[in-house]
Amino acid sequence: MKIAVLPGDGIGTEIVAEAVKVLNVLDLPFEMETALVGGAAYEAHGHPLPDSTLKLAKEADAVLFGAVGDWKYDKLDRPLRPEQAILGLRKNLGLFANFRPAICYEELVGASSLKPELISGLDILIIRELTGDIYFGQPRGRRTAVDGHFPGTEEAFDTMRYSKPEIERIAHVAFQAARKRSKKVTSVDKANVLETFQFWKDVVTEVHAQYPDVELQHMYVDNAAMQLVKAPKAFDVVVTGNMFGDILSDEASMLTGSIGMLPSASLNSSNQGLYEPSHGSAPDIAGKNIANPLATILSAAMMLRFSLNQPEAANRIETAVKTVLASGLRTADIWSEGTTKVNTQQMGAAVVAAITKTTKG
Ligand code: NAD
Repeated sequence: MKIAVLPGDGIGTEIVAEAVKVLNVLDLPFEMETALVGGAAYEAHGHPLPDSTLKLAKEADAVLFGAVGDWKYDKLDRPLRPEQAILGLRKNLGLFANFRPAICYEELVGASSLKPELISGLDILIIRELTGDIYFGQPRGRRTAVDGHFPGTEEAFDTMRYSKPEIERIAHVAFQAARKRSKKVTSVDKANVLETFQFWKDVVTEVHAQYPDVELQHMYVDNAAMQLVKAPKAFDVVVTGNMFGDILSDEASMLTGSIGMLPSASLNSSNQGLYEPSHGSAPDIAGKNIANPLATILSAAMMLRFSLNQPEAANRIETAVKTVLASGLRTADIWSEGTTKVNTQQMGAAVVAAITKTTKG
């Protein structure tokens, strides 16, 4: 089992180090190789996704990714910015399906900004299409407007587009995931305004005919954003396009209290995957040893389950995280009165200790 470890920038290096410690204690035959990505790779090689890093990622069974980005790179040309590395990896590895579970741990009910009764027991899965939509559609750019409200002035434009096979494959992923859960899919679109999303709705409905045991509901994205904070537990699997998924999955992450708790997986059609926390490189807290490593540690668990076929090891990590939370340990982002504040390394060590204890037990 070969894992490409790409810590990246900011807190990326701190949280990935803890996830690697957790993986090492499992005593499984991993081969882990680390490479630079993002701003760190730009500094060393002049590009956020050097060929050597891309080659390593392509050859691995899975990629464990931290985060990339820093405001100091905001003035670079777009292709050289750290965030392009993640887009490049998604595109080159064909990672079209992004899984973002939003699970509210009972111990963290108080950390959410929503009322406890709304989120207690929350367990939803947002599936976001990751390689299409307006984020990749061509043409895009700036030009002088020839029509519109202000002809002759400067304008910018992007292209929203989805092909039928792109929608079909993500719809299959969603229906198949729903079969392993509560058999309910909400497809989020903006079919009332956008041609692309009327097409999305039609194709999802067509694919649904192959899954009569799964309930399908369509919802406009503005309503979905509202329902996610009004009655989040009414959802089970949510499937949507790249841009709506980007926004809704961040919204869903806050239901659970902290973005520092949320893992994610991005898979291609052969189950090769990139696993990363849902958050970014958090330059505001980087280097302070206070970031929450649990999203990355839980991403490593998803990696074991989806790409490395080690479901038992995944369970061991997830159980250890629950044990640590139940024991009252909290990083600053999820800390509340009556719990014990720990730093990044202490949280990682506590998860390692919980795994070791169950192994010995
Ligand atoms: P961010 O997710 O990095 O941070 C948002 C807020 O959440 C910050 O206050 C941060 O301190 C906090 N936070 C994030 N992760 C945390 C953790 N593990 N523990 C505790 N607190 C945590 O988003 P941002 O500030 O908008 O972006 C910062 C940089 O990250 C930017 O350069 C952005 O482009 C990049 N980014 C990268 C990715 C990625 O690598 N996939 C994703 C999103 C943003």
